[in-house]
Amino acid sequence: MIEYIDSHCHPNDESLLVRFDEVVGNAFAADVRTMLFIGWDLESSKKAVQLAEKYDGCYAAVGFHPENLEGVSDDALLEIKDLCKNPKVVAIGEIGLDYHWFKDPKDHENQKKWFVKQIELANELNLPVSIHARDASGDTLALLKKHPVNAKGVLHCYSGSVETMRELLKLGYYFGFDGPITFKNAKEPKACVAEIPLDRLLSETDSPYMAPTPLRGTVNEPKNIPLIVSAMAEIKGIPIGDIAEAIRRNFAELFRVKQ
Ligand SMILES: [Zn+2]
Repeated sequence: MIEYIDSHCHPNDESLLVRFDEVVGNAFAADVRTMLFIGWDLESSKKAVQLAEKYDGCYAAVGFHPENLEGVSDDALLEIKDLCKNPKVVAIGEIGLDYHWFKDPKDHENQKKWFVKQIELANELNLPVSIHARDASGDTLALLKKHPVNAKGVLHCYSGSVETMRELLKLGYYFGFDGPITFKNAKEPKACVAEIPLDRLLSETDSPYMAPTPLRGTVNEPKNIPLIVSAMAEIKGIPIGDIAEAIRRNFAELFRVKQ
């Protein structure tokens, strides 16, 4: 039997939270046995931890997303640090830079400031990070060179170029791919999947967002991971079981969980 992993999902989002047990049941029924629930601010991070506690194979990442910095403060970061005492917490995330929705240079500076502070927290706790980088891969690369994450991390829903991916691979990062690799016109993410070494690849849904083809436009769920992994298998010309096994090893190594 092939076992799948969703390394980045948001069942703490209202649309999935209202039927959380069903969402997890659907995932298990689809052989998606391991899930990492990702916070985007303090409340959603607390929720991610609570939800992860309910099931074996479920883990949490906690932190402030660059689009959700309104509630951020040094005190809030201390609360994030406190959450990390829970053994279900395996990463700081999602953190990073988003220049797609934020065009003002002042916002970019603020995002960088909190990205660095959260990297420092990850290093203090020796945790890896889950990184959101949208229309900001140049600055993300520069920042990660200047502020290395000791336990490394994953560029989630990677949407940058193959060239930037090569640079980030040299720094030791992993790459998560989701719905877009199943979209007909997504050339760059497919080129990245084709080139990425198997030992740096992760599968994710980013649910409830990013539903893969043929479910585009629906509320995404972790149960859809097999569609992503089968797209990876097709792009790379490697059997689906080999891809899933590589992802299992990568997840265990990066997030240091027993599989
Ligand atoms: Zn996300």
